[in-house]
Amino acid sequence: MSWEDNVRKVVPYTPGEQPKLDDIIKLNTNENPYPPAPAVQEILDSFDISLMRKYPDPNAQILVDALAKTYGVKSSQVFVGVGSDDVISMAFMTFFNGSKPILFPDVTYSFYDVWADVYRIPYRLIPLTDDFRIEPKDYAQENGGIIFPNPNAPTGVLESLGTIEEIISANPDSIVIVDEAYIDFGGMSALPLLDKYENLLIVQTFSKSRSMAGMRIGFAIGSGKLIRYMNDVKFSVNSYTMNQLTLLCGAKTLEDDAYFCNTTSKIIATREDAKTKLAELGFTFPDSYSNFIFAKHQTADAAMIFDQLKKCRIFVRYWNKPRISQYLRITVGTPQEMDRLYTALTEILAEEETA
Ligand SMILES: *Cc1c(COP(=O)(O)O)cnc(C)c1O
Repeated sequence: MSWEDNVRKVVPYTPGEQPKLDDIIKLNTNENPYPPAPAVQEILDSFDISLMRKYPDPNAQILVDALAKTYGVKSSQVFVGVGSDDVISMAFMTFFNGSKPILFPDVTYSFYDVWADVYRIPYRLIPLTDDFRIEPKDYAQENGGIIFPNPNAPTGVLESLGTIEEIISANPDSIVIVDEAYIDFGGMSALPLLDKYENLLIVQTFSKSRSMAGMRIGFAIGSGKLIRYMNDVKFSVNSYTMNQLTLLCGAKTLEDDAYFCNTTSKIIATREDAKTKLAELGFTFPDSYSNFIFAKHQTADAAMIFDQLKKCRIFVRYWNKPRISQYLRITVGTPQEMDRLYTALTEILAEEETA
């Protein structure tokens, strides 16, 4: 017997690299290439540091109320956390306590199996179809809960509200979590389904569409009952997850809807252009409704392209995993960044052909 026998051993999630080099093009973690709404600067300029002396509001009310107003729900239906990673982890701890396996797609956000492992939650991977779609019938089986992103990551594939509702309605005895990290880039949120389903939890984040990955703000919207259960668990772990400055910046950015619509439209336009450019370069990809494209080249090896791009100081994401080892996940950057990507890809592919 050793103290090590009692250690909770886990294989942690590997986040995308955050290289400390200047002059790189960072298309590897789905960050927004545009700054947050300018009004956020006013919060920082007027912030009184003596506020740091005190604990923040444990209910994060200013942010919760701003979110409730933005999304047309009651404040009692909103839960906030330190990025949606914190929110989803809290939801796993709160809702997935049965002995039956929870279900999620085989190709999806690679944090789900890590949370399942760390909380000792049994899980079953449900294979996506050959074209990376969710087949709702596959989720009509005994389970202890369901989670999937919509649009899915890292594929970018969007499912219709009809598909989502088919899954929820077939599972009245399970909590169904829809991770909408990328919903603002052209998808339809499942929010309208909340009136009908008490067991639906929708999770979103400020990290992608609201340009605030560094502030760590995520939130969940669901029935008052689900949110109460999540808050009970939160207040049993850490009452003060959200710091004071973050609460103020988060609430402020929600006021500027015009800026939000403008930056998301720019990213959508750049993404649509990227579909044309990447296709011309010989890539194929599922149609993306997110701020990234999951692309496979007709002939060139994905790991090779990944390494060569890195030499050009362009970072994209690559996983050497079943089904996806010939794909690169490329975040949509500014038009200028994307032009540098196309130039680099053109050179890499030309060299490959003559090699
Ligand atoms: C980025 C991402 C998250 C988490 O983002 P946070 O920065 O923690 O809010 C959650 N789910 C998916 C599918 C993501 O891609």
